[in-house]
Amino acid sequence: MRLQGKVALITGTGSGIGRATALRFAAEGARIVAVDIAASNDDTVAEVRAAGGEAIAVRADVSVEPDVAAAFGRAEDEFGGLDVAFNNAGIMLDDDTDAVATSDKTIDRTFEVNVKGVLYGCKHAVESMRRRGGGSIINTASFVASVGAATPQIAYTASKGAVLSLTRELSVVHARENIRVNALSPGPLRTEMLMSFLDTPEKKQRRLVHVPMGRFGEADEMAAAALFLASDDSSYMTGANLQIDGGLTAAYVTPE
Ligand code: NAD
Repeated sequence: MRLQGKVALITGTGSGIGRATALRFAAEGARIVAVDIAASNDDTVAEVRAAGGEAIAVRADVSVEPDVAAAFGRAEDEFGGLDVAFNNAGIMLDDDTDAVATSDKTIDRTFEVNVKGVLYGCKHAVESMRRRGGGSIINTASFVASVGAATPQIAYTASKGAVLSLTRELSVVHARENIRVNALSPGPLRTEMLMSFLDTPEKKQRRLVHVPMGRFGEADEMAAAALFLASDDSSYMTGANLQIDGGLTAAYVTPE
């Protein structure tokens, strides 16, 4: 029960990492504000409740600031305050490729959700955590913010670099307010986002050869890392980029 008595707002809870983290945090005693644009969020909240946890579902688009403000308002109104914010919702659009071919529309939408969405989440988390006397903010970046890929999604990659740099700066700004801000950088995962994109064995293998562990990660493995960053176990950690990627960002030559 590492989050006993804590209130956690998580975005992107309709699927993948967000869903797994809502279930894990609730099992560790947190009350959950589950935020997503998709109707599948209601299923996640039903799962949390079925497992004996406490959660509310909030339908919101993280790229729309009034939506984000309203979601954070629910944490205070219904649960009395906020201790943990996991700004995790993100998108990777189909026609996001290289710098020459990627449309302006795709660049704009990717930045609206992946960068402005995270920034709005940080802004409202900071305001709420100031009233609480502190808290932990976790922003989902990606391994692609640290290593280049010759199979590019340039807008997505740039957006995740922005998540890392804004996380670092906010961590320094708010360090003496007892507000910690860290990034979680997943490696390639066996979630809907990546598997719908890597839809042939060849595409999967093209990536797996670069992962020392030789497999995709699981959403539950990201939830475990998010739990560490959310809890007091990481109390002296801020401004960090926690890379949970099967060794990918450490690798030059991988095992045969
Ligand atoms: P996913 O697609 O399974 O889940 C993402 C969730 O975010 C969905 O439920 C979706 O409805 C929600 N969402 C999308 N746009 C939204 C918006 N504007 N407002 C509110 N909710 C919105 O993806 P996932 O794999 O769980 O990814 C979660 C995070 O992890 C993302 O930020 C992603 O970029 C990052 N990430 C994923 C991988 C991977 O391999 N899957 C690797 C590195 C980083």
